[in-house]
Amino acid sequence: MAANDFESGLKTLEELTTNAQQIQDQLLGEILSKNAGTVYLNRFLHGQTDKQLFKTNVPIVDYEDLKPYIDRIANGESSSDILSAEPVTGFSLSTGTSGGQPKLIPFTAESTNKTAMFNNLYRSVMMKHFGDINQVGKRMELMFVKPEVETPSGLKASAISTRAFKGSGFRAVLPKLYTSPFETIVCPDTKQSMYCQLLFGLIQRDEVVMIGSLFASGVLRGFKFLENNWQELCSNIKTGQISDWITDSGCKNAASLILKPNPELADLIENICSCKSWEGIIRKLWPKTKYIGTVCTGAMIQYTAELEFYCGGIPLVSGFYACSEGAVGINLEPLSKPSDVCYTFLPNSVYYEFVPIKEERVANSQNLVESIETKSRDEDTEPVELVNVKPGHCYELLITSCTGLYRYRVGDILMVAGFHNNTPRFRFVGRENVALGVDVERTSEADLLKAVTEAKTLLDPLGFILTGYTSYGDTSSTPGHYVIFWELKAKECNNGKELDPKVMEACCSRIEDSLHFTYRMYRKENIIAPLEIRVVKQGTFEALSDYFISRGASLSQYKTPVCIKSKEALEILDSRVIGKFFSPKAPM
Ligand code: AMP
Repeated sequence: MAANDFESGLKTLEELTTNAQQIQDQLLGEILSKNAGTVYLNRFLHGQTDKQLFKTNVPIVDYEDLKPYIDRIANGESSSDILSAEPVTGFSLSTGTSGGQPKLIPFTAESTNKTAMFNNLYRSVMMKHFGDINQVGKRMELMFVKPEVETPSGLKASAISTRAFKGSGFRAVLPKLYTSPFETIVCPDTKQSMYCQLLFGLIQRDEVVMIGSLFASGVLRGFKFLENNWQELCSNIKTGQISDWITDSGCKNAASLILKPNPELADLIENICSCKSWEGIIRKLWPKTKYIGTVCTGAMIQYTAELEFYCGGIPLVSGFYACSEGAVGINLEPLSKPSDVCYTFLPNSVYYEFVPIKEERVANSQNLVESIETKSRDEDTEPVELVNVKPGHCYELLITSCTGLYRYRVGDILMVAGFHNNTPRFRFVGRENVALGVDVERTSEADLLKAVTEAKTLLDPLGFILTGYTSYGDTSSTPGHYVIFWELKAKECNNGKELDPKVMEACCSRIEDSLHFTYRMYRKENIIAPLEIRVVKQGTFEALSDYFISRGASLSQYKTPVCIKSKEALEILDSRVIGKFFSPKAPM
């Protein structure tokens, strides 16, 4: 992208965000006039295209409601008029939050164009803040693909990231702009792929100006892998020979073209990696890195402390909010801290509606509003349009798109942080359907995140970082209790520090004190038993992700579930527990 293109991209963004209402109306009009005759919409609109009728007649749905129609397309019924007039060209395998069966989300030529437009505007914003990094160096992005599946109709289904990485346009620019050769990205064995991508990133360390992966968990996985394998990587660099266990022919060929004996480089990397603490290691290994590009918001915020530890001050940039259903939000302030990141929605991408989230204000014994909690969909209130959302309020996102999704629940909760021109900027709050509960109380992903964030501050002075957490509602005994799994890491290798049980108990208490009113009330009345933290050994969350990836999740798009529902996943965690701590007292 040339400099003037990037300026025109920024200008387009200003125009889009200024004329949001008009663009949204126009987009909905186009979607309805093209698709009113589809099997699905015809049921509700009888061929009409009126916006008001759309809102009164077309139901709000989730994936399960649309699945029968999607299955018909996947099974080979004429794909052109079931959900969308435009032919479906394939499916994205969406994980939403990880854990469940991937969903099949249709895409079309038009939605592919919209994604390309989104990417261009996103690049304009990045160029404004970081210059044209393509002119000064390469990106070390860790990218992984999942095998495509062919549906009975012959249409391909793949993770959206896989499709992007395998696309011919991407492949053409890959050698010039990225350190990972194509063969290492498409290698089906993720361990070999990771090893080789890190190897190529190290060899080209002087050229690397950006490091990333789609989600923060992916970047972190890369650095942990490096921590465990740097000696072997250095030995490969020293000898110019790749390890024997790299058997993938693509990876071997790519290595034979680039890998040459380089003892000086190997010694340099060995020196850096063998230091006592890995704090700031990224800056030392890749000194020209301008930023780490990866999604750090939502469930990913739990990884930021550890990533910041490795970064040594290099900014973490959470650039966009996108899902298989549509690329929707761009962070116009990429240098903002992960906890402050907001995404401005593009009004020409999909048609948005927002279901207000009911906030129950709970009074304490002195009748003062104690807290805002038990967030749930407000079924009685009509969804509002993009420009009508209110700052400070939370909403569940619905989208209507050219691909045949109508008033479709994405499953994400967003909070309005403000406006850019006439378009809202949203903060990602969490997934809608993640709820931890052992009685009638419900604790959302956001509630839990807030409480864990409070509690982990107690670990900082002891030299430990929380590197992963998840939760489980244990009802095997009565009353039931919350179990929070924590993986911890010492800031310095072998610092010899033991976990102090008193501090861990204080962490349990702090979580309870920071949870919502209903939880605390139930705890006091012994309807809920004391909260438990189970500390798991290092590598547990990686084993958990391996399990979900083996069940169909894409490594590039993997997100740790915030609440564990599957028995197998629970067994993985429980078999690695190294310490159990309980809250010693009822919460305040
Ligand atoms: P997938 O459909 O597998 O690509 O997953 C999309 C989901 O990932 C979204 O619905 C969100 O829950 C999550 N996600 C995507 N982008 C972000 C972001 N910037 N911050 C937090 N969560 C995100």
